Amino acid sequence: MTLADKIAKLKQEKNAVILAHNYQRPEVQDVADYIGDSIELSRKAMEEKEAEIIVFSAVDFMAESAAILNPDKKVLLPSLGARCPMAQMLTVDEIKRWRVLYPHVHLVLYVNTLASAKAYCDVCCSSANAVQVIGSLNAETVLFGPDRNLAEYVQRETGKTIIPIPEWGFCPTHLLFQPEDVHVLRAQHPEAVVMAHPECTFEMQKAADFIGSTSQMCRHARESDAKAFIVATEEGLLHRLRKDNPEKRFILAYEEAVCPNMKLNTLERLYMALKEEKHVVMVPEPIAKKARKALERMFELRS
Ligand code: SF4
Repeated sequence: MTLADKIAKLKQEKNAVILAHNYQRPEVQDVADYIGDSIELSRKAMEEKEAEIIVFSAVDFMAESAAILNPDKKVLLPSLGARCPMAQMLTVDEIKRWRVLYPHVHLVLYVNTLASAKAYCDVCCSSANAVQVIGSLNAETVLFGPDRNLAEYVQRETGKTIIPIPEWGFCPTHLLFQPEDVHVLRAQHPEAVVMAHPECTFEMQKAADFIGSTSQMCRHARESDAKAFIVATEEGLLHRLRKDNPEKRFILAYEEAVCPNMKLNTLERLYMALKEEKHVVMVPEPIAKKARKALERMFELRS
């Protein structure tokens, strides 16, 4: 029996469902019931009526959101070490400091934050819906964190003043993409469309033909007539893009663009998580209650 077979058997016995983020290892994506971005997966978790256990193969803040939105289910994170460094960049103390400086300004937080931070915001957003959520607010100035590149992207798209908190928040993996690498790749693949994630730097975004979240990239690749794409996001997405579009070519814009935190969820750890029902994601209810409100408001503003 292969590990994948054992996982399939356990999944059935325990009435579990496996959700895997687009940045997961190929072999983990291949045993998952659903693959998607953090919000697509949280929605799937909410729609999942039958399963008693959700194995959320991703990083800490995503599994937390799934647990917050599904208080009646057991949510498991295969690797305890799978923590997003960007989410750690915005602490509650930092939020309180900015709240004092701007007491009447809306606070919007990227879903890439810990539940303790989400509990202090007015509404959450993802990279797929940040422009729509912030655009729909009746406010010209908004506090936004923790990703500075996404904050600047939203400012350009909405024309609103977006104050990034902290001033320097970033995703270490997306920072690896550089426009000079893209210029070289464009020369080698002149027919290719360049897609970049809004967590990339402004210079990198300027070098792209299309800017979007992972789910938006998947849609663009599917619907575009182009046959080749240079992709500036974590390398895991290319497995899905290639599987969904076997007739098209996908080239990673920088070969080393691997999120080590996402990759901690190996197939072995996924198997052990199901077998031993670990690591259960727990969010204290007073925090979960406030964070749930911010997440639900995001779904209301952008369903
Ligand atoms: S890719 Fe970036 S934002 Fe996503 S989990 Fe890794 S470090 Fe965090």
